[in-house]
Amino acid sequence: MILAAVFALALGQTPCPAYTRTKVDDNDPKSHCLYWRENSQLEWRVNDQGNPETTGDTEYAAVEKAIGTWQTEMASCGSLTLQVGARTNSRLADYSKTAADNQNVVLWRFQLCSGMVGASDGCWKDDNCGNQYDCWQHNPGALAITTSNFDPTTGRILDSDVELNTPSFIFTTVDSPTCVKPNYNQGCVATDVQNTLTHEFGHSLGLAHSCQVTSTMYASAVPGELGKRVLDPGSKLFVCETYPKGLPSQDCVIKKFDGKLGPPAGCGCDAATGATWAALALLGLCRARSKR
Ligand SMILES: [Zn+2]
Repeated sequence: MILAAVFALALGQTPCPAYTRTKVDDNDPKSHCLYWRENSQLEWRVNDQGNPETTGDTEYAAVEKAIGTWQTEMASCGSLTLQVGARTNSRLADYSKTAADNQNVVLWRFQLCSGMVGASDGCWKDDNCGNQYDCWQHNPGALAITTSNFDPTTGRILDSDVELNTPSFIFTTVDSPTCVKPNYNQGCVATDVQNTLTHEFGHSLGLAHSCQVTSTMYASAVPGELGKRVLDPGSKLFVCETYPKGLPSQDCVIKKFDGKLGPPAGCGCDAATGATWAALALLGLCRARSKR
């Protein structure tokens, strides 16, 4: 480990950090990081269609375990409370600031949008084919996508939804043995639900991909993989440092007080504009992080 770091430095590369946070603008070093407000009680609701391929209700149990893994760390040093709520019939991965009950949804998509939505359909431009036609609109090679909406002026996350790609992958819930290609079935581990969702919930909490291959947040997963069910030390550190118990959630930039109170004069953005912009920004980011 030390040798690797020295080697990286010798080559002039940046050593791999313990964890990397998602920012409002990843290309801006002064950008806010994303985070939920301290002491938030967050609930994810799994769509009641589940994943019909997995055995019985095991996919729901796997979602509970994935959330439970992060909650264990939160209980130890963080301020958020994470739980899985009642199943929902919502199949929308979106945020509505007018909805009385805005949900963080986990859902499996069953069809690729590319096979059912014409190329000229306006939903592609609007980036909303998935919600409009209930299909997987993202990279067919991505296992899952987390879409979070946030306030770009603060980095505060408002909503986070996870979609899983059933048309392209066989999701399983058993612990062993590893499936042998091409005999993927529910009696062996192909794409493990808990492994996938532990990673995705890391995105929901504000983590970006890690360059450490052993990290929960490493960008790719091989068939049969279970290692991301467990949090690596860097992801645990993220919980403790971003959501310190008894303190405000931590941004990654401390802006110097410029003598003005309140938002800058002349800012014409309303919340709706901000939310839309945010959705687009993070969807793009999701695509970038989804090559796994
Ligand atoms: Zn990812």
